Amino acid sequence: MQYSKLVEIYSKLEETGSSLKKTEILADFIFGLEKEDLKKIILLIQGKVFPDWDKRELGIGVKLALKALSSSTGTSIKDIEKEWSKIGDVGEIAEKIIKNRKQKTLFSKTNSLLEVYSKLEKLASTEGQGAVDRKMRILKELISNSKPNEAKYILRTCLSDLRVGVGAGVLRDAISKAFDVEKKNVQHAYDLLSDFSEVAVIAKEKSNSGLEKVRLQLGKPIRVMLFQKVSGIPEAFERVGKPAAIEYKYDGFRLQIHKNKDKVQLFTRRQEDVTNQFPDIVERVKKTVNAEKCIIDSEVIGLDKKTGNWLPFQNISQRIKRKYKIKEMVKKIPVIIAPFDLISLEGNDLLETEFSKRRKKLKKIIKSKKNKIEIAKQIITSNEKQAKKFYKESLEKGNEGVMVKNLEAKYKPGSRVGYGVKVKPETETLEVVIIGAEWGTGKRAGWLTSYTLACVEPEKEEFLTIGKMSTGVKEKSEEGISYADFTKLLKPLIIKKSGKSVKVKPQVIVEVGYEEIQKSPSYKSGYALRFPRLIKLREDRKPEEIDTLDTVKNLYKKQRYRT
Ligand code: AMP
Repeated sequence: MQYSKLVEIYSKLEETGSSLKKTEILADFIFGLEKEDLKKIILLIQGKVFPDWDKRELGIGVKLALKALSSSTGTSIKDIEKEWSKIGDVGEIAEKIIKNRKQKTLFSKTNSLLEVYSKLEKLASTEGQGAVDRKMRILKELISNSKPNEAKYILRTCLSDLRVGVGAGVLRDAISKAFDVEKKNVQHAYDLLSDFSEVAVIAKEKSNSGLEKVRLQLGKPIRVMLFQKVSGIPEAFERVGKPAAIEYKYDGFRLQIHKNKDKVQLFTRRQEDVTNQFPDIVERVKKTVNAEKCIIDSEVIGLDKKTGNWLPFQNISQRIKRKYKIKEMVKKIPVIIAPFDLISLEGNDLLETEFSKRRKKLKKIIKSKKNKIEIAKQIITSNEKQAKKFYKESLEKGNEGVMVKNLEAKYKPGSRVGYGVKVKPETETLEVVIIGAEWGTGKRAGWLTSYTLACVEPEKEEFLTIGKMSTGVKEKSEEGISYADFTKLLKPLIIKKSGKSVKVKPQVIVEVGYEEIQKSPSYKSGYALRFPRLIKLREDRKPEEIDTLDTVKNLYKKQRYRT
């Protein structure tokens, strides 16, 4: 297949805002594809080259992309940068420049899908000394062989900024439509495999029965079960029933541990493989988990070496990203594993097994060891007073609150089903993504400040502005998350500049508090947060998981009832 065929589809998808239309376009396109093309197309249509759990990364930044564009088109880097500050989108600039190229070489060669894909793969495997130059050469080749609109999407893919609006919902529906299989079966397979490309192939080749038969696989992270938030202990009991299991809600990060004999793999809540970052956890699991094969769901908490207290999430988040000097980090920030669920044991899925039994099995294979591995502290009760006391105790220990769980519930991956709920202190917060910022002046010169926040419209995967935030951001890193920290995170994500303002790729997620939600025509969401302030960085979240416009609407309504 020619890459240009896919480009045609990208353009069509980009032109329509309707999820239904997108589903149709996609279903028509993938319907007749043979297996290998289908796999690649499903990844590429999401702007990905590899599934989320695959460790490989292309490692291309805007700077390198602009340089490659300059050298492959013979346009000076100065001119390209000028264009970039006007247009922002590297893909669009490439399209424009290649169209206007003076020494119009006829496009003698056409890009096949396979060629483009294998070059993208090659970008990811190019590492070590001289990697930047080699990556640049590959990128240059890719651009030189491309028609204007092909270069546009290739570069956007390289920068993980495809923006054709194909989210999980559209993909699920398109696969269901193309191969005439049930949506719920597609969803089931996706929840367990975390990879639509594999799901699509199963749907095509084995239809409904193949999808239904998808089971957990060691080494493939599942989409973990999520929990809804409730207002307090009474509501928690109402939702999950009595008696319920009540557990500390540790303030760490979620870790899915896959043990297959001597092989241990670790995945975040976003299905990223972080095995290399946590050799200490790998060793500890090998030593303390008494099972040949299992998948454990857990929270990992940082330990303050001086005081022996648990550290807030913020402190260990550095360990998740760390790719070098890992040994140093292991010493600097030791961690405790707090397992709270068992998803599979000795090759048997426990998804249908009731929670109390899963917990029993968990306790059988793990002996808690203080400050090393401690099964989540739990009580079982029907008594509100006792539950409230436990909640208080949990907060006093520095936890975020408690989880209240139904004892008979299955493990339902990938969704907030309400088999468990979380209770946290009242402050209403929103999780939003930063999509813009402004270069500061005066003593904040050189820093990105005043962050534009957005919620999501999930169907379209569109990010809608809802306010600007500076409050809560510190001047110095020792005091918390600082302007310098945000600048470091946001600068590589800049996709457009205009004057002092920049637009950034929606990747940095923050939890914000606010005084009130107001209706506002100035922001795309139609709402504005009054006095938003930073509560914390949420590096464990994916942009599509942030709070939705619907949530904002509901919170707005609720607050109207209150006043
Ligand atoms: P939230 O991140 O606010 O949606 O709360 C859910 C998260 O709490 C889970 O994804 C886990 O990372 C974390 N957590 C901490 N302690 C527990 C626990 N005992 N059971 C389940 N999740 C927990």
